[in-house]
Amino acid sequence: MIQIIAVSGFDYVGKNMTAIKVDDEVVICDMGIHLENYIKFTEDEDLINVSPEDLKRVEAIPNTKNIEDIKGQVKAIIPTHAHLDHVGAIPYLANEFNADIVCTPFTAEVIKTILRDEKIKINNNIRSIHPNSSFKVSENITIEFINVTHSTPQTAMVAIHTKYGTVLYANDFKFDLYPTLGKKPNFKRLEELENVVAVIVDSTYSRDERKMPSESVAKQMLKDIMLGSYSHEKAIIITTFSSHIARLNSIVQFSKKTGRKLLFLGRSLNKYIKAAEKVGIIDFSKDAEVIRFRGKIYNKLRTVMKEGKEKYILVVTGHQGEPKAILSRMANGETPFRFDSEDFVIFSCKTIPSPLTIEGRKVLEEKLKRTGIRMFKDIHVSGHAAKEDLKDLLLMVKPKNVIPAHGDESMKQGMREICLAMGYEEKQVHLLHDGESVKFN
Ligand SMILES: [Zn+2]
Repeated sequence: MIQIIAVSGFDYVGKNMTAIKVDDEVVICDMGIHLENYIKFTEDEDLINVSPEDLKRVEAIPNTKNIEDIKGQVKAIIPTHAHLDHVGAIPYLANEFNADIVCTPFTAEVIKTILRDEKIKINNNIRSIHPNSSFKVSENITIEFINVTHSTPQTAMVAIHTKYGTVLYANDFKFDLYPTLGKKPNFKRLEELENVVAVIVDSTYSRDERKMPSESVAKQMLKDIMLGSYSHEKAIIITTFSSHIARLNSIVQFSKKTGRKLLFLGRSLNKYIKAAEKVGIIDFSKDAEVIRFRGKIYNKLRTVMKEGKEKYILVVTGHQGEPKAILSRMANGETPFRFDSEDFVIFSCKTIPSPLTIEGRKVLEEKLKRTGIRMFKDIHVSGHAAKEDLKDLLLMVKPKNVIPAHGDESMKQGMREICLAMGYEEKQVHLLHDGESVKFN
């Protein structure tokens, strides 16, 4: 018997965690934080050493009470990729389980870096398995990492193979045929899967009626501004997601063509770039300087002002207007950097639609506008599947049951409507709330 338990992340976007029980053994897919609740509580977008009890109280990490009775049966914890809403609760919760963490090398490196930086100890082994390979969890469960594209490297769909059939955990992916870094999705393997009992699927953009454009489109948008707009004598400042290594790699390529020196400034940029370098995905060492600590960042900005800002490209943290990030500090005049009119500020991201970030971005943009800068917004393409990609997944995998995940009620309903339009029956689509479960014989 297979039971799928929606531990967390089935009523909103964030703190993803699903338990898959096969007879008397359990694997857990993802163990993430709820970013907005986390930031509200810690005022920090980086993970810091705070107590799990406090984080549970403010609903920043999953509530593991609903799997209390099966904790002892957990055999593996499987984070699918390095985003904090998928791995961020590991430092706080993994110790509750006597199980190894199994993930791709980049994800493993990011987890290890967080633990090391914040001096958090967990007892679990961290095993890294390459995308497109398998791992035997026990006699009865083998997991397979199927390579997919997303907005951070080495993202995998997890196929959990059992004697009752296969469960496919497909949270956070897009089907990008022209990725700018890393491999294409492994469509062949998805088509080959047989007897897929259920798919647990990313519903975030289920109502977005299109196929999500490729990352190469975002790369072209960035190129148009970095190389095609008149930035003569002016600063170029770019802010984007620190974990989006492909996007950072595009910035490195275009920076070289401008002849300007490239600086990455901020703690989280340093964390993800170093992790990607360590596992051999990129090597920025010859083309850019990465500076982590605030004191050194301020010294560097002093040099930039002295030597001439037109000689540099600055990539900084703070795309969502986080008050403690470098861009907010620059806008506040807290750093040695001074904005001039017509300096470039490029937001290579979208605003995350939560009240906290919408307000943060508004405050930041108002401050920046007062300096007379040129602002380039939404130079971005999402890493999530839209409606037509979700249909592709169902056509390829042919699951017997669908469990919409990674979304609020409306997003899950959007996924349900896709299924019904494609001929699924109501009883094959399972809308779960946190704490609920469904069984398949
Ligand atoms: Zn993600």
